[in-house]
Amino acid sequence: MGHNAGQHPPVIIAGGGIGGLTLALTLHQIGLPCLVIEQVREMKPLGVGINLQPNAVRELLELGFTESDLDGFGVPAREWALVGMNGQEIYAESRGRFAGYDWPQYAAHRGNFHMALYERFRRLAGDDAIRLGCRVAGYKVDESGSVSVHVETPSGGENIAAKVLVGADGIHSAIRAQMHPDQPPIHWGGAVMWRGTTMAKPIRTGSSFIGLGTHRQRMVIYPISHPDPETGLALINWIAEVTYDDPSARETTGWFDRVGLDDFIHYFENWTYDWLDVPALIRGADAAYENPMIDRDPVPSWVDGPVVLMGDAAHPMYPTGSNGASQAIIDARILGAKFLEHGIGAAALAAFDAYLCKPVSEIVLRNRGAGPFGLLNMVNDRCGGEFDDIDEVIPRTEREAFMAKYKEAAGFARDSLNAAPPTISACARLSADIHG
Ligand SMILES: Cc1cc2nc3c(=O)[nH]c(=O)nc-3n(C[C@H](O)[C@H](O)[C@H](O)COP(=O)(O)OP(=O)(O)OC[C@H]3O[C@@H](n4cnc5c(N)ncnc54)[C@H](O)[C@@H]3O)c2cc1C
Repeated sequence: MGHNAGQHPPVIIAGGGIGGLTLALTLHQIGLPCLVIEQVREMKPLGVGINLQPNAVRELLELGFTESDLDGFGVPAREWALVGMNGQEIYAESRGRFAGYDWPQYAAHRGNFHMALYERFRRLAGDDAIRLGCRVAGYKVDESGSVSVHVETPSGGENIAAKVLVGADGIHSAIRAQMHPDQPPIHWGGAVMWRGTTMAKPIRTGSSFIGLGTHRQRMVIYPISHPDPETGLALINWIAEVTYDDPSARETTGWFDRVGLDDFIHYFENWTYDWLDVPALIRGADAAYENPMIDRDPVPSWVDGPVVLMGDAAHPMYPTGSNGASQAIIDARILGAKFLEHGIGAAALAAFDAYLCKPVSEIVLRNRGAGPFGLLNMVNDRCGGEFDDIDEVIPRTEREAFMAKYKEAAGFARDSLNAAPPTISACARLSADIHG
C-alpha cells in the first residue's frame, strides 16, 4: 500500500537501506502507508557479504519471502569457526538449522538482498511509495505533535508533513545529528577492513564462517552463494583486517572506497595452509573495498517526540558480531509491532525506545570489545596466539560459555528464539480507529 501523490503519508522513512525497506515492507503488511525517501538516484546492488541471523531470517519469512527467495541472494550457513594463526581450530559450532534453530542463518550478498527488498516493496506499494535522489535534511516538530520533514530534491527543497518520521539513514544519519547535536564524532578503534569477493571452492563444511588469525590481524571468510554445480566454485566473501596502533594517523570518513590489492595484501603474504591459501584468495578478487571499522557512542534515547531512529542510525556497531543487518531487521519488525499496539505516534515510538535502546546499546559496546572474536583476544592474552592443544589454553566449557553469553545478549539464543511468538502475527492489521 503506497500513499497517493499529493496526500500526506502517516509515516516518512528517511533512508531506503536494509532497515528502512524492511520497515516499509512491514508497514505495508500491517496496512500502514509510508513514503521512503532515499538519497541515491539509482538503486544498485552495493556491498559484499552480510549475515542474516536466524531471528532476522524468521522475520523475512514472516514478511513473505520464501527460502528459495533467500537462496537467490545467499546461502544457509552451517558453521561458525575461529582458527588460530597456526591453522588450528580454536572454536567451532553449528549455525542455523544445523544448530537446532527453527530457522536457517543466511550468509548473503548485501547488494542483492537490498535489491530484493527494494523490488518487493515497489511491486507491493507502487512507484510513488519511494522517492529516489532526495535527501532528508532535517525535521521540525510542530505544536500538534506531528512532524514537518525537510527534503532536498533535485529541483530544490520541500517540507512534507507526517505523523511520524523514522530516521533509517545509516551511520552518517542526518536525523540523529539533529536529535543529538552534541554527539561525539564517529568512533574508530584503529581497525581497517578490506572487503572483497572471489570465486573459489568453499572450505571446511562448504558453508563455514571462518575467523582466522589474531585479534589485531585476521581474515574473515565465508561463502555467500551456493556452489556452481559444475565447477564447485562459490562466491566467497572475505574481509582482511588489520589494527593500527595510532588511530589518529588515518582519515576515517572513507566508506567503501575501492582500493588496489597491493595496498594491503602484504599483511597476509605468508598466510598459506594446506587447506587455505589466503594471498591466492585475495588475488582472485576483481576489487577490494576499504573501510575503517567504525561505530558511534550509544545515545540515551532514539526518540524525539514523533521522530525515531532505527538501524545504523540508532546503533551503528562493529561488524564483529555479524548482527548489524539482523538488528536493523528486528528494529523494523518491533517498530511495526509497537504501531499495532499503540497506534501511529509518539507512544509507539516511546515503547520501541524503551524496549530496544538500552539492550542494543549494550551490544554496540560489547562488539567494540571484539564481540564473539573476543575468544581470539583470550588466546592471545593467555599464550600469545601459540598453542598445540587449545583445551590447555581455554577449556571447552569456557569457550562455550563465552559464546552462549554473546548469543543471549544479541537476541539469537536458540531456545528463547524458538519459543518466542511471532513479532507480528500474520493477520495483524492496524484497525481504522488507530489508523485515524
Ligand atoms: C552502500 C553500502 C554498502 C554496504 N555494504 C556492506 C557490506 O558489504 N557488509 C556489511 O556488513 N554491511 C554493509 N553495509 C552496511 C549495512 O547495510 C548496515 O550496517 C545494516 O544493514 C543496517 O542497515 P541500515 O538500513 O540501518 O543502514 P544502510 O544499509 O547503511 O542504509 C542507509 C540508507 O540511508 C540512505 N541515506 C543516508 N542518509 C540519507 C538522508 N539524509 N536522506 C535519505 N537517505 C539517506 C543511504 O543512501 C542508505 O541507502 C553497507 C551500507 C551501504 C550504504
